[in-house]
Formats: sequence, structure tokens, C-alpha cells
Amino acid sequence: MTIAEHIRRSMEEGSLIRKMFEEGAALKQRYGAGKVFDLSLGNPIMEPPPEFHRELKKLAEHPLPGMHRYMPNAGYVETRTAVAEQLSTETGLRLTMADVVMTCGAAGAINIALKTILNPGEEVILFAPYFVEYRFYVANHGGIATVLPTDARFLPRFDTLEAAIKPGTRALIINSPNNPTGVVYGADWLGQLGELLRRKEAQYGTEIFLISDEPYKKIIFDGQSYPSPLRHHPRSIIAASHSKDLALPGERIGYLAVNSEYDQRAELVNGFILCNRILGYVNAPALMQHIVRHLQAVTVPVAEYQQKRDFLYNQLVSMGYSLVKPQGAFYMFPRAPQDDDLAFVNELKQFMVLVVPGRGFGTPGYFRVAYCVDDRTLKGAVAGLEKAAQKFIR
Ligand code: PLP
Repeated sequence: MTIAEHIRRSMEEGSLIRKMFEEGAALKQRYGAGKVFDLSLGNPIMEPPPEFHRELKKLAEHPLPGMHRYMPNAGYVETRTAVAEQLSTETGLRLTMADVVMTCGAAGAINIALKTILNPGEEVILFAPYFVEYRFYVANHGGIATVLPTDARFLPRFDTLEAAIKPGTRALIINSPNNPTGVVYGADWLGQLGELLRRKEAQYGTEIFLISDEPYKKIIFDGQSYPSPLRHHPRSIIAASHSKDLALPGERIGYLAVNSEYDQRAELVNGFILCNRILGYVNAPALMQHIVRHLQAVTVPVAEYQQKRDFLYNQLVSMGYSLVKPQGAFYMFPRAPQDDDLAFVNELKQFMVLVVPGRGFGTPGYFRVAYCVDDRTLKGAVAGLEKAAQKFIR
């Protein structure tokens, strides 16, 4: 046997979506990329803001001594300090560099957090629809993923959550603004969640960590500000990155931060630092750390994403699609007009539109549209979605 059984199983489970991507690539090859309207990838079309290139140029022209060497596994003090200051401004809490560890993206951050806190067989609660990688991340560190449904507005339900939390529940992963729904969890909702978690912790004498996956926290619309879960549960852990807010997904730069009001946070952070090392990440990329410390208050033009959201949402609603209006990120999750989301996604392919079936996010019956694309692609896709609506809705 060449590869481990569980990896083979994971590859087979992922094969449906992979096949879809392969078919999409084949369509592009056959008809030309300009004729295929690909809304299947969360890879932002935007370039990083000018400030990024300015900092990059500065470093290239005036390299800092030792700037490419090994460093402490937690990252540079200056970068951790800059992140802590920004988070303090955003949350009203008082974080310091000791509460922050720089990571290889949010993906690296979540893996480090799970490795640090999970004992074998402990449970991590996810809410469907969810970012599909979470299941792999939980399994990576010997955890068991429990998936709970959300309500009609894609908010996790407190009744099912209350019933699902057991003595072996170690953590929840939440993601707001959400991939794939674009939903943002409000401060009231987070307050209720925090109360529930503390009630359950008291009932079982356990600690339950709230891992908040926040790569989209700055991509938020309609003048809203981001309600941080840090304010609502002492055992909250932020996993964030600059993949989306600075459009740097290929650069693998992110961070973990812990609640400055958690009394055991020094041990937690020391665990993160060790796990950053022993998972083989060692440290977050040096060059990016030098750059992003100057860019903590900088974001890609969110208004452009909002315009795309408005255009696509209004179009889809007028065609008769049923969907929740996204408040952030750059995804929508409409109901598939055919019960079988995979069949519908294949139909859309006939109209040269590529999207992802909801089952890829643990929620069949829907499809995900990623609108972080140029306007030409968006308009081309709308034409295809209209043809599908004529066939299946009207
Ligand atoms: N979490 C969610 C919900 C995402 O959508 C993504 C990437 O698309 C990630 C985490 C991973 O982000 P990063 O590139 O920072 O590792």
C-alpha cells in the first residue's frame, strides 16, 4: 500500500469536487478561458494595495540586516506588537505581543490551535455549511468533528448546540464573515454564544475554546463593523490572515491571538509556539512579517466587493433564486433550484458557469458562488445563471 488508508479515503471523498474542477479546466481548454465564467474559487482577483508594493520595494532597496534568517518561532516582536495594537483597537481589549503568534495563514493558525489544545478523541463542533478543510484539520490532530446544522439564515442554532456539547467537547470553530454564506455573526448572537459556552463549562468543569476563523473580518459591507468574539468568551482564539484583506493568499501570512482576559493564556501561547515549530511551519514567512507590520490598518477596497455583491445579489433575486443576502466575505450560497445540487452545478456548466455544489460544504441542496472575480466574468456568469433560472425556476 503506497499511501495511508485514511489519506486514500480523504482523496476519494474529495474526488467529486476535484472532478468538477478538472471538468471546468477541460471546458476552459476546449472553449477558451474567456468563454468560461469561473465562480468556483475563493482566489481574490484584486491585487494587494499600493502600500504593500511600497513596503516590498523599501525592503528590496534597503534590506534589513539578517532579514532572511531564522527567528523566534512566534515571529518578530515588532510584527506581533503591531498585530496586538491593531487587535486592541478593533476589540477594545488590551492585547500585547505576548498574546500573538505569527503563522502561515489562517490554515496554519487553525492547525496550530487544534494541535495545541486537542487530546485524542476530543470533539470539535463545526456548523454546516463549513469550510471543508476544517474536517481535515480536526482529524490531523486526533479530534472528532461534530457537525451541527444552522438555521434558515445560516446562523448556528443554540438548541442543537446546547444538546451537542458534551464533557468531551473541546472547541467550536466559527467563521464570520462566513465562507460559503457571507453571513456575519452579530454581537448579540456572540454574547448568547459566550453565555452558553460558560454555562456548559461550569456544568462539566471543562474548558471550551471558541476558535474564530477570521480571514474575512475586514471584508464587511453596509458600513458595519466586525463584532469580535474575543469580547464574548475568555477562551476565544483568533485565527486570522492577510490572504483576503491584503489579497496575499499565496504569501501564507497570518496569526493566532488569544483573549487577553484568559488567565491561562501564557501556557496556551507557549503551546502555539511549540506547535508552530513541530508541525514544521517553524515560523511565518520573514519577508511578509516585515511588510505586514506596517499594513495592519490597510485593507483592499472593500467597496469594490460590495458593488459586486450588490450586482450579483440583485440579479439572482430578480431571476428567482432564493438566497440570504451576504454581509461580508465574497461568497453567496443560493438554494439550488434542483434538489440535487450536483446535478444543478453540472447544468450550469452547460451554460459555461462554474460554481461549487453545497455538498462540498456539508450542505447539499445549495451552491456556492465566489464573486471575487472581474466584472466581465461576473456578467458572463449572470447570463448563464439566467438561462438556468429560465430552465428550472420560471
Ligand atoms: N478559513 C476560511 C473560511 C477560508 O475561506 C480560507 C481560505 O479560503 C482559509 C481559512 C484559509 O486561509 P489562509 O489562506 O489564510 O490560510
